[in-house]
Amino acid sequence: MRSSESGRCSGSYDVVGLGFGPANLALAIALEEHQRPVTAAFFERQTTLGWHRDMLLPSAKMQVAFMKDLATFRNPTSRFSFVSYLHAKERLARFVNRQDFFPTRREFHDYLQWAESAFTDRVTYGAEAIALRLPPRADPAAPVDHVYVDVREAGSGGAVSTVAARNVVISTGLVPRMPVGIERDQRVWHSSEFLGRFGTCDRAALRRVAVVGAGQSAAEVVRFLYDTLPGAAVYAILPSYGYSIAENTPFANEVFDASAIDDFHGGSQRAKDAIWRYHRNTNYSVVDDEVINDLYQRAYDDEVSGNRRLEFINLSRVTGVKDIGDSTQVTVHSLASDQAAEFTVDLVVFATGYDAMAPGDLLGDLDAYCARDQDGSYVVERDYRLATSTPLNCGLYVQGGTEHTHGLSSSLLSNVAVRGGEIADSIVERLPRETDSTSGGPAALSSRP
Ligand SMILES: Cc1cc2nc3c(=O)[nH]c(=O)nc-3n(C[C@H](O)[C@H](O)[C@H](O)COP(=O)(O)OP(=O)(O)OC[C@H]3O[C@@H](n4cnc5c(N)ncnc54)[C@H](O)[C@@H]3O)c2cc1C
Repeated sequence: MRSSESGRCSGSYDVVGLGFGPANLALAIALEEHQRPVTAAFFERQTTLGWHRDMLLPSAKMQVAFMKDLATFRNPTSRFSFVSYLHAKERLARFVNRQDFFPTRREFHDYLQWAESAFTDRVTYGAEAIALRLPPRADPAAPVDHVYVDVREAGSGGAVSTVAARNVVISTGLVPRMPVGIERDQRVWHSSEFLGRFGTCDRAALRRVAVVGAGQSAAEVVRFLYDTLPGAAVYAILPSYGYSIAENTPFANEVFDASAIDDFHGGSQRAKDAIWRYHRNTNYSVVDDEVINDLYQRAYDDEVSGNRRLEFINLSRVTGVKDIGDSTQVTVHSLASDQAAEFTVDLVVFATGYDAMAPGDLLGDLDAYCARDQDGSYVVERDYRLATSTPLNCGLYVQGGTEHTHGLSSSLLSNVAVRGGEIADSIVERLPRETDSTSGGPAALSSRP
């Protein structure tokens, strides 16, 4: 193995995980609890573990029950369960007294940090994976058992290092999406950066604010701005009549069960399409009833008091934004009248969602060896391994970007415990018997010349 500039080795692992959010944290736990030890190193571009930090709004709740944590559904006796966390924090009784399956997002973040503290020797933070590539080979037809992963470390002035991996698990998460043609600036934000920017802006200057979108994040940001800026007018711009409710009934929740992934993966394209059609309202562009009711009540209270400052601009889309000096002009196209209108705001937050993880951005040279289906999407086996052609023998796994093969829970937390276990099993089963299994760590990047 070598560092990119020098041609020298810096580390070789059975497993290299890219990104260290809940998905790869759950994998790290599954590997830790596996009977056969393997060497693993994880690279995370943030400087510490951070789970959607900029959307940890006060009181925002999880949309998944606490038992769908990093480990319980795979191993109910795991020391990394949410119940173990509550016990360690001496809050178990009071958590149960709440009679609510859903922790706040802030508490869940604290749980993730608590679990992560057992793995700091395996994670390099401030390290962004740039690309995978084939190692140099004398015989191009010879089987490839390791791939190279190039990683840029912020702490080393952006120096690039390389590690070798028998298996790579790409878990780099969702990608924030802005409407086409709209760029972020000091008054145009995406919800994924919300709290970080709100914390440093001049709140007194925010007299008219707009939030674009109809999903959970949009509704939460509207509620937060309305409550935090008592003097401001808040405009919610939506393509529909208000917000649609997230289907959260017991039958619908079965679509997130581990067994539903077998149905989806093994199903025909017609079955897959039907599952999406019937059940996308469990998660996509929908909002929890508690937030919907809160917002409606606030707007109603405004009417009663005669001080109307929360306005829902329904059936509308933002088609442009323009910096006009000390404010921003927003162009809104009404679907009802087919007319455009312009108004000025001091802030516009685009809660316009995320694109699925796109592993192709990292696959580099290796992309050519990854099979695609007739729609051009990657073929992903049931064990989350990309189908690859010879001479590639190593495993390329993905956690995310599998909506077309594994269904609705692909980017969610519902299945991270079980999925991490399935990937760990698959990796271990495919390892050669003689592999040395001493624990590897971020020393992978510290042994550079
Ligand atoms: C505001 C919000 C709330 C949500 N709430 C829920 C919920 O309640 N329940 C639920 O089931 N789902 C929820 N989701 C869905 C979300 O996808 C999952 O909660 C979860 O984050 C998925 O974990 P992950 O590890 O796959 O991705 P992420 O949590 O996004 O982690 C990916 C990590 O990879 C890192 N990374 C990215 N690129 C690189 C690179 N090139 N090199 C190194 N590191 C990289 C990122 O910094 C990040 O830390 C929510 C999403 C959002 C946006």
